[in-house]
Amino acid sequence: MTSNHIMSLKAVGMRFGSFQALSDLSFDIDAGEVLGVAGPNGAGKSTLLNVCTGGLCPTSGSVLLDGQDITALPRHSRCSRGIAMTFQIPTVISSLTVAENLLVGRSFGGSHRHDFDAIVEIAGLGDVLGADAGTVDLLTRKAIMLGAALATGPRIVFMDEPLGGLNADEIKRFVRMIDRCRQAFGVTVVMVEHKTRALAEIADRILIINFGKFVCLDRPSVVLNDDHVVEIYLGK
Ligand code: ADP
Ligand code: MG
Repeated sequence: MTSNHIMSLKAVGMRFGSFQALSDLSFDIDAGEVLGVAGPNGAGKSTLLNVCTGGLCPTSGSVLLDGQDITALPRHSRCSRGIAMTFQIPTVISSLTVAENLLVGRSFGGSHRHDFDAIVEIAGLGDVLGADAGTVDLLTRKAIMLGAALATGPRIVFMDEPLGGLNADEIKRFVRMIDRCRQAFGVTVVMVEHKTRALAEIADRILIINFGKFVCLDRPSVVLNDDHVVEIYLGK
């Protein structure tokens, strides 16, 4: 049986003590798509990414990769199966060069390795490979984190608010990087982002959640013109 779904969530719930951060979330991620995830602060977006990437084990429901149940697998096991994540605050190893940071990514991950030169090209890091990673600007740190994630050979990359802190020009450059990722490697991208104009440009579909619950999932033109979405999210 073949399916176009690389990942599926089935009635996923995440409870912290008595607080229900995610409730009964079910949706599929299509192979090769860019899926945007948006919703108000505290809606559960980062929690959702962690449930998908193994940072958290959901307290109910299941997560499937290629139809196989990976709900209880920790992050490193998911990484070797082709699941990578980038974080809101770029994590680079400041004592290493840019090139060494990418190579660290390569030492993790699975058997499927993307070409190093292609990663450097996608992340636009050709001119700074020898620089100390601690000395470069925010966009470059984000590019390093994306490059290191790509170096693990992922089939799907989850990004938590990758555009935060960037100016308009830097946003354009990062969006082009994401586009190059999918063009060159066919990587599926799931990005949490509240900059909806950028999302509308790059995402094939947008998922909206609110209070940890599913609101809608559709093409950007549909979602961003939905009255309920405008009310809960864009109207503020
Ligand atoms: P978002 O990324 O959409 O802003 P989060 O997923 O970070 O939201 O958080 C969703 C809710 O879950 C928030 O109310 C947050 O305080 C709570 N939460 C997140 N992580 C934890 C945790 N480890 N323990 C307790 N509550 C948490
Ligand atoms: Mg968050």
